[in-house]
Amino acid sequence: MSWFKRESSGARPRPDDDSAPTVRTEGLWLKCDGCREIIWKKDLELTFNTCSKCGHHFRMDARARLAMLFDDGHYDELDAALESSDPLLFVDSKSYADRLKATQSALSLKDALISGHGKLAGRAIHICAMESRFIAGSMGAVMGEKITRAIERSIELRTPLIIVSASGGARMQEGGVSLMQMAKVSSALMRLDESRLPYISILTDPTTGGVTASFAMLGDLNIAEPGALIGFAGPRVIEQSIRQKLPQGFQRSEFLLQHGMLDAVVPRPELKPYIAKALDFLAGPVAGAPVASSPGEREAA
Ligand SMILES: [Zn+2]
Repeated sequence: MSWFKRESSGARPRPDDDSAPTVRTEGLWLKCDGCREIIWKKDLELTFNTCSKCGHHFRMDARARLAMLFDDGHYDELDAALESSDPLLFVDSKSYADRLKATQSALSLKDALISGHGKLAGRAIHICAMESRFIAGSMGAVMGEKITRAIERSIELRTPLIIVSASGGARMQEGGVSLMQMAKVSSALMRLDESRLPYISILTDPTTGGVTASFAMLGDLNIAEPGALIGFAGPRVIEQSIRQKLPQGFQRSEFLLQHGMLDAVVPRPELKPYIAKALDFLAGPVAGAPVASSPGEREAA
């Protein structure tokens, strides 16, 4: 058989042909969960994974998140080799060791958080971003250790810190060890605070469980993305225990902002200029950098 022979006789769809089979377009288009419109996936890249029609925020993976926040997408990844030692030799439907191995090879990541050092709007900074596809972005010993190290480096180099949360909470496969990370990270953050360095927490969909109950809510600024699920226990668990219907929009960013649990809800495309401005306010402007942070202001200046 020649190299050039087309194996499949399936027709390739033309954009103007309604009767074209749709199988080959799979993966190119996406139905928006917000407005049910069909979106071309390429368009999503331009809007940081948000729907240009209704503003719905799709989930964003950790690498894309760091590329969005760091200047020119450049950063040095830190502690990339840290991985869980499976302290409890935990087995559920399959062993934790196997689950880890499969997830690690599928995502090319050792655990559910990437820690990076680089610049944001010209300012040296440490940013940690969670990967929600890695065992639901759950927090185990590795996540706690990576964040703690990022905090210690921030203190040493006198840089601000950002943690972008996207997590189902503590990792049950590490039991009590994962719960200890709440105290470990919280106490490290106290040292960051004593060093008078800013910490901004970004809460994205979903931020729940032990992550919400500890460092995600300890920011000097707690900023959420629109429509993000943020809570401790899930709504079903709460409804069942208090035997009451929960109000509309309960545990979503906008509801939490209204009830004083958050400082701001910022759409993703505006997130970076918003953080840059907040850091100018919290830590003083970067030496030698223009003060204006958003493109609009820069033009006006
Ligand atoms: Zn939409």
